[in-house]
Amino acid sequence: MNREGILIVVSGPSGAGKGTICKELLNRNKDIKISVSATTRKPREGEIHGVNYYFITKETFEDMINKDEFLEYAKVYDNFYGTPKKEVFETLSKGKDVLLEIDIQGAMSVKKEYPNGVFIFILPPSLDELKNRIVKRGTETEEDIKKRFGSALSEIEKIDNYDYFIINEDVEKSAYELQNIINAEKNRVLRYKDNIIKMFKEEL
Ligand code: 5GP
Repeated sequence: MNREGILIVVSGPSGAGKGTICKELLNRNKDIKISVSATTRKPREGEIHGVNYYFITKETFEDMINKDEFLEYAKVYDNFYGTPKKEVFETLSKGKDVLLEIDIQGAMSVKKEYPNGVFIFILPPSLDELKNRIVKRGTETEEDIKKRFGSALSEIEKIDNYDYFIINEDVEKSAYELQNIINAEKNRVLRYKDNIIKMFKEEL
């Protein structure tokens, strides 16, 4: 049966562990492709252009907006982030699943554009633990930490826009739960009913 890939959208507050869970999922499942976003944020130590992000200037970002090259984009904590559209749809049409790790505004734009996506929200075990994780990561300035932590609760309040949630107490367990969600979606009747009927009709 022909199946278009699944667009998996993962969001959650900064420090909930989205990035680590996604990395773990990709280690376990080589069939999923992660979309590399473009951003105007400066690279952190160790981040590689084309791997972690496409690090581009504000001018280039605006140019891409004008050319309608983004599936979605948003301003997150003073920087712009966007998902390049072309590769996502090309990959899905080849039957390969695509993972987007994006903020909530971006996820809601994707939902409008592509409601067939699976929207998954990653939660920390507590707000206290969330703060510990952001501080421990040590990649943000004091001001950034405040901003990221300050918006956590209002982000969590938007959870009813999502299909699934994962409470990230343990990365391995969370990646396992994420894979299970994807597995279940692959057998959802609503998603593939036309393809199923077509497949059996073709046999006649
Ligand atoms: P960071 O600066 O920590 O790498 O990312 C900050 C936030 O931007 C995270 O919540 C991350 O999920 C989000 N983000 C990364 N790429 C994109 C994107 O392409 N679009 C949107 N809307 N958010 C993104």
